[in-house]
Amino acid sequence: MTLLSVNEARERILSHFQSVTTESLPLAECMNRVLAQDTTAETDLPLFDNSSMDGFAIRALDVADANPASPRSLRVVADIPAGASPTISLAPGEAARIMTGAQMPNGADAVVPVEDTDFENRDAGSTPPDYVKIFRPAKSGDSTRRRGMDVRAGIVVLKQGRALKAQDLGLLAMLGFAKVEVHRKPRVGLFSSGDELLEVGAPLESGKIRDSNSYMLASLIESANVEVVRLGVAKDNFDSVKSLLERAVNENVDLILSSAGVSVGAYDFVKGVIESNGNMDFWRVDMRPGKPLAFGEYKKIPFIGLPGNPVSAFVGFEVFVRGTLGLLSGSLDGSRQTVRVRSEEKINSDGRESYLRAQIHEENGILLARLTGHQGSGNLLSLVQADALLIIPAGVKCVPAGQEVDAWLL
Ligand code: AMP
Ligand code: MG
Repeated sequence: MTLLSVNEARERILSHFQSVTTESLPLAECMNRVLAQDTTAETDLPLFDNSSMDGFAIRALDVADANPASPRSLRVVADIPAGASPTISLAPGEAARIMTGAQMPNGADAVVPVEDTDFENRDAGSTPPDYVKIFRPAKSGDSTRRRGMDVRAGIVVLKQGRALKAQDLGLLAMLGFAKVEVHRKPRVGLFSSGDELLEVGAPLESGKIRDSNSYMLASLIESANVEVVRLGVAKDNFDSVKSLLERAVNENVDLILSSAGVSVGAYDFVKGVIESNGNMDFWRVDMRPGKPLAFGEYKKIPFIGLPGNPVSAFVGFEVFVRGTLGLLSGSLDGSRQTVRVRSEEKINSDGRESYLRAQIHEENGILLARLTGHQGSGNLLSLVQADALLIIPAGVKCVPAGQEVDAWLL
């Protein structure tokens, strides 16, 4: 069995994947989908010069000397609500009542807000006055938004590989993209394995435990915006494993993910089934927790077998699967962000690359870390209590108190 560094194992896995195909989706269905191509604005934004205030569109030169003691009176020649297309052109001495977002009329180059005039009626349906007194001067451009000041037609506003956020969908709508070319949502078939596993609602039996990995791993997959096909629990026998894998094939998944049953022992039926229709390698990865890892292919579908111990399964997901799902999704930012944290205590390590559960708190802008409880690979509570996984590099046997290390915030 090969002993691999974490990086070697990760690279080997990633080299088997490429992003899934793309599809053109209605904008409303694009949240969290990954853009398949750069998006170029086809129009300016704003689309046209418009008012940023309720007030009066004017010619700035007309009101250059206006002040409260000697206001400038202008003749109101039009009323321009939002959505209207003004046809007039302001002549010297003229104004048009205008609402926020309404298109500026020709001739006008500024807006005076209603509160700087003698006409303060903003009621819906009110008729504009014949004349309006302006109390303050305005400069050209005041209280207006110029066409193209935010976005110029032709610029790239969103890059390929971006997982679309709510604000992105808003911008795409502004630019008129009713459909967007995005990557299809990858699908992962997930199963647990082991004769000891019970469904969470089933009555306890002697020697049995509840299947917690299915719930945890399914949620981790969904947190990466990937669809989960829950295949259930495989018993420790050939036929049970086989039927689950066959379902994964029928469901057209992009990856099969399992936990447990991949250590080289008497009951590792997963290996037998996979090798009947593909291949599987067992790796020992120089890491803690989660040393054993299986990687292979069943009927051409990639397979990753995580260890069974819950914390090992969790860490294995973060180390090997999250990035893989990012790659499948077409996402350029599918990995967890690394932050620097300072250990408050001395940490002994055994020289393997270690992922340790820690609580984090901030003091004077520095993130301080303290390990949670005991770090056994079955102790899920200490993971629940943790805010971060500290990453102790391979080869390090001791991190003195006060030293900084990399960490993933959970
Ligand atoms: P294995 O990899 O099959 O040797 O399992 C290693 C350990 O993980 C054993 O203690 C199993 O009982 C436990 N385990 C395996 N699968 C699960 C699961 N789905 N949920 C919780 N514990 C599990
Ligand atoms: Mg087992």
